This record gives sequence, C-alpha cells and structure tokens, in this order.
Amino acid sequence: MNSPSVLIVALPIPLYQRFEYLPEKDVGIQHYKIGTRVRVQFGARKLIGLIVDKATTSSLPVKKLKHISESLDDEPIFDTNLLSLLFWAADYYQQPIGEVLFTALPAVLRKGKLITPATNTLYKLCSDQNLDKELSRAPKQRIIAELLRTQPQGLNADELSEIIPGWHSAMNALLNKNFVEKIHQEHATKIITSNITTDELQLNTEQQQAYLTLSTKLDHFNCCLLDGITGSGKTEVYLALAKDVLKNGKQVLFLVPEIGLTPQLLQRIETRLAEKVHLMHSGLNDSQRAQTWLATKTKQANIIVGTRSAIFLPFPNLGLIVIDEEHDLSFKQHEGFLYNARDIAVYRANQLKIPILLGTATPSFETQHNVNNQRYQRLMLSKRAKDSSIPDVKLVDMRSKASSDGLSNELIQAMQTELEKKNQILLFLNRRGYAPTILCQECAWIAECSRCDARMTFYKNRNILKCHHCLKEEKVPAACPTCNSDKFLWLGEGTQRIETKLKEIFTGIEITRIDRDSTRKKDALEEKLQEIHAGKYQIIIGTQMLSKGHDFPNVTLVGILNVDHGLFSTDFRATERLAQLLIQVSGRAGRSTKKGKVLLQTYLPEHPLLNLLLAKGYSAFSKEALKIREECAFPPYTFMLLIRARANNMGLTQSFLQNVKSILTKNTLQGITIYGPIPALMERKAGMYQSQLIIFAKHRKSIQQNLSEWTVAITALPLAKRVRWDIEVDPLEMN
Ligand code: ADP
Ligand code: ZN
Ligand code: ZN
Repeated sequence: MNSPSVLIVALPIPLYQRFEYLPEKDVGIQHYKIGTRVRVQFGARKLIGLIVDKATTSSLPVKKLKHISESLDDEPIFDTNLLSLLFWAADYYQQPIGEVLFTALPAVLRKGKLITPATNTLYKLCSDQNLDKELSRAPKQRIIAELLRTQPQGLNADELSEIIPGWHSAMNALLNKNFVEKIHQEHATKIITSNITTDELQLNTEQQQAYLTLSTKLDHFNCCLLDGITGSGKTEVYLALAKDVLKNGKQVLFLVPEIGLTPQLLQRIETRLAEKVHLMHSGLNDSQRAQTWLATKTKQANIIVGTRSAIFLPFPNLGLIVIDEEHDLSFKQHEGFLYNARDIAVYRANQLKIPILLGTATPSFETQHNVNNQRYQRLMLSKRAKDSSIPDVKLVDMRSKASSDGLSNELIQAMQTELEKKNQILLFLNRRGYAPTILCQECAWIAECSRCDARMTFYKNRNILKCHHCLKEEKVPAACPTCNSDKFLWLGEGTQRIETKLKEIFTGIEITRIDRDSTRKKDALEEKLQEIHAGKYQIIIGTQMLSKGHDFPNVTLVGILNVDHGLFSTDFRATERLAQLLIQVSGRAGRSTKKGKVLLQTYLPEHPLLNLLLAKGYSAFSKEALKIREECAFPPYTFMLLIRARANNMGLTQSFLQNVKSILTKNTLQGITIYGPIPALMERKAGMYQSQLIIFAKHRKSIQQNLSEWTVAITALPLAKRVRWDIEVDPLEMN
C-alpha cells in the first residue's frame, strides 16, 4: 500500500484545526495546488475549503478520511505572498486559519463561484421583418420587441427588468428565433480626463520636504508617519507620491476610515491622478466587491481606495500603501477575525519591500512609540496649507454658567454672532437620541434594558425607549412600573434634544443633524454633506461621524457640548481618544480664510491633561500621557492580550477563565501579568454575561511564543464547549 497522501484544508468555521482529505478518486495529489479552493463534505454539510498544505502521513486511519468532492480552481486564488501574509496574521492574532483566509476573500469566491469580468450585455433587435405577424400569439415577446424597436442602441438586463419584470424566458424565445441578438461590451472604465493638471498645486516647503524624503525611497520598505495638523495638506503629499508610484507602473492602496470615504476625496484623487479609482468598502454589494478584487488581481485597478478589508486585496504589483487618519479605530475589526488593518499593512509593506505612509493630525500612541524607537520615521507638516490658522479653543466652565438643555449662554451668544455673519456652526455631541435617561420623578425608577446592564435611550419623535447595545425597542410606559406615577423626567441631552432646543432658540435658521439615526438610509450621509457644502444649513449638529476628514470651509464656530466622560473613564486609552477627538473636531473650524473658534463645554475645567492639550497642543499632551502609560506599564510600553468568554450565566464564564488562567500560569513566564477573570464593564449584554482575562507582557515574544500552545490547551478544556470565547491580540477598547 502506498503511504497516504493527504491534503490539508482550511474551512471557514471558527475552529483552530485544519482538516485532512484524500484527493478525488483517480486524481494524483500532485494535481492539487496550495491556495486553490475545493468543495468538501464536512459532517452533514458541504463546505468550500482552501488547500493550505499537503502531507504524506495522516493522523487518522485512511479509512476515516473522506475524499475531496470537487476541485474549484486550476490556479491558486492567493499568491504566495498574500498566503504567507494571511498565515502570519492567523498566527499573530491567534485566529482560526479558515476564518482568516475566508475573511480575505470576496463573498462570491467564498460561496465557491468564480468571478467573471463585468460585461455589459446588451439586447438589440436585429430583424424587424414579419415581427408583428410572427409574434401575434406571443404577447410578452411582442412587448419586448416593440420596446427594443424604440431603443436601437439596445438595452441591458437592469434596464429591461425595470420596464418588463420577468422578461427572461420571452427574451430567450426571441433569441432562439434570431429576432434579437446579444452584444457583449466590456464595462467601460470611467476615466475623468478633464482638469487633469489644472488644479495641480505647488507643494509648500514642508510638503516638498516630506515628498522628497519619501520619493527617494520608493523601492524599499520604509514606514513614515506624516504628522500634519488638520488642513496642512497631507493629502497633497499622498497624491504626489502616488503619482510617482503609478508612473513606475505600480499599484497604490489608500486605506481610509469607515466614514472618511467622501465623494470629494475620490474626485480629488481621480482628477489629480487621471486614473479610475476602484473602491472597496462595506457600502458595496457582493458583485461590486468581487469586481474590485478581480480588477486588482488583473492589474486593471491601479488605485484602490478602501476601508480596512482592502488590505487583503490580491495586489500583484503593489508599490505604496497610504493610511489616512491612522489613529482611527475603524481600522480595527471587532467581529470574527479580530485584526488591525493598519498593523497588517505595515507587515505587508515590509514583506513587499515597499513604503507605507501613515498620515494623521493626531498620531496614535502606538505609532508615536514606534517613532520614538526609530522604527518609523516622522515627517511634520506644522502649518495649514491655505492661508488659514488653527482655531482658538476656549473652555466654558459649566459649573457656574447658566445653561439650558446642555447649551451654555456663552455658546448661544457666540452662535448668534456667527449666524449674523452668515457663517456655519458645527455642534458636536457624541450621544444619539433625545435623552439618555428616563427617570420617575416620584420614586427615582430608571428605565433599563432587560437584556443589558444599560439604560434605555428616549426617542421623543417615536415615543420609544431604545437600547443602544442590543437595539431592543419598547414603548415608553404609561406609568412607572414601580410606583405607578406618570411623572417622568428626561435626563441629559442627545442630539435630537439639542436639535429641538436649537429650533426653538433660532427660529427660521436651517439646522441639520448628522448621526447614525439620521443617516441610516443609503446615500443619506452623502446627501447631507453635499447640502452642507452647498450652504443649505447654518447649524450642523452631529456625533463622531462629523469628526472625520470632512472639510467644511464655512464653519467658523465649533461647539463641543459634552465630552467629560472621556476624562473619567476606566479605559486607560480614554484620554488619548478624547484628545484625538477634540483636535479632529476643532480642525473642522476655520478651514478657509475665515478664522475659526472652538468652545469646549466642561464640568472639569481644571483637568491637567485637558489644559495641557489646549495650551501646548497634541504633541505635548501625548508626551505627558505617554509618560503615564509607561509608569503604569500599559501599552504601547507593554503588549496586551484579552481572553474573553461569554455565556448565559456569569458563573460559567468565570470558571472557564479560571481554568484558562491555570493553563497560562502553569509555566509562569517572566514579565507576564494576568488580571482577572473579571466581569466586563458591561457585564450583561444582549442577555449574555461577559468576563475577561487581561494579560500584559513586557515583551511581545514571551506571549507570542506560547500563544498557539495556549490556544490548543484552551480548546481542550471541557468548559470551552459551553462558553463562547475568543482571544484578542492588541485590543484597543476595553468593554
Ligand atoms: P489634510 O489632508 O492635511 O487635512 P488637505 O490635503 O486636505 O489637508 O489640504 C487642505 C486644503 O489645503 C485643501 O483645500 C487643499 O486643496 C489645500 N492645499 C493643500 N496643499 C496646498 C498647497 N501646497 N497650496 C495651496 N493649497 C493647498
Ligand atoms: Zn416611580
Ligand atoms: Zn440592551
């Protein structure tokens, strides 16, 4: 008997194992290539898998092995570089290999299908003779023929579906009778040719310096932080570099935060570089994503702008990666495969020996730490590119000032002044809904979610209570469930309450609100942004969504309503986030020649870090805050890991994590500290209890070396099957 030759297959399931299969009957193992997809039987299901290895021996008796059911690709769908990147990522983040590989594929390929280039098939009438007579007894065919007669250039499937639903079988009959012909057109790629060079800008000295430093290093790995204040012209530096890279015949990847992807940015890139931009983000449908994937692989796409998952596109010839707003949390994936696209991008650039540019006005502490260690190079843009200055920020002490519904008189007066000058005002409040708390006036009962440890948010327009954590909605009770009183108080302010209040104060002024509730519909955000640019609104109230990369030239006043919770959060990163937010939001003011002003309302006007930030700027602030991190041995000075467990009772998660802890401490390693198990900040969420182990290590190596061994041991724990657990490497949020 020959020794068994088995194929090692990764499957898209949240298990750490790889699975063994025999080749199809009568097919030699040499015919299978690593990186190709196969269809296999897995229990009662058929799954699509990916061949990741071959072996000459099996851990199981041959009789127990199943044959591959079907081979789906002739050639690997991942090249060796990308495959090794994904293997590295699976190991680094200690995530199931199948989940990692399949996350990196567009849905069309995950489902086992092939991507065919998008063609535009047109249906055209080719013979007009005897048509009416021949089709007299086929009314649907006649309708189609008559329609096509009026459209000599032909119609495509979408257009037909719109006018004549269910046209397919009648059309087939027409095709068979040769009355209609099908014409395949390659999808026309839209290239904007106008204004190619007209709005080319002369780089200023600092921009020129940054550009020159980078443009001489295009042929090797090099990670640069482009540390430039908001409006300093970072995008111009990206574009100048991208132009050189394209000229060398290579591809460019722009990674942007989830909501930073604006039509203005796309147009700016397309016109400047005279190239079609291909997109990759969550707003696209499966087939659009598949087309970008294919265009990237076939080098039809030279510039890709995308959100985090675009880092996994199959570039054969990548020459530059740009990460705009590198500090942004949305580069981190929070479900399934837990990865950080920024960090994977640095690895990928290193692997491909190409430069990577991290741009931001508020560098993350991790990146600053890497600069301090001379792993990354820092390039500064310290002035605004246009003739405009950074706005003044003033603290408004809310303790003494009279205020109504969260708006201080000082802010209202400042708004009045700007409104008279016909300027725009932006108010920032990171809280949706009308009021975050509803309280019984008689007995102090508070409406809480029955499934989460959280209060329900009041939505006045619909008279409902909604939990922002599990999305549960219910009617506002007619009477208090404890004392039967019907006197409720709405405490605190959400964006809707501020909007209502402003409409009362400033009658006749156009006001708009931008938050997740008001932009749920497709394109709603885009429309609102366009209306703001067109000057339709004078007051804009919004959440976090407004802080990212949007450029509002006529905004001269920014009001920051309530960010105090960032100053006493239990998350050690809260002050970093708050500082980034304040600088980014403030950066929306005075982007043109009009000088801007920022009013920051706070109940903690003496907070030292807040004052340092306002007096000396983000860089001085981060120096101080980094010192504190070092003293407390928090990241980026240590390496952090979370092991989380969820179950429908707290006891189970705690005992499971206790077991995990004993595995970890069995051979106690130097420089590792383990906290927990402790319940998550929100213990109960959507009816599930959550606990965690928090692990800090002085050296990355001491954890990384043991991680896969731990995973195997944890998987083998009897309780592992009764809880949902995961590992998060480099977590950015503690919740
Ligand atoms: P950032 O990306 O740093 O926020 P942008 O690249 O968007 O800044 O530039 C801010 C504004 O300044 C834009 O309107 C841009 O057109 C303009 N700008 C950038 N560089 C120059 C330059 N060298 N000369 C004139 N205007 C510039
Ligand atoms: Zn009550
Ligand atoms: Zn809830």
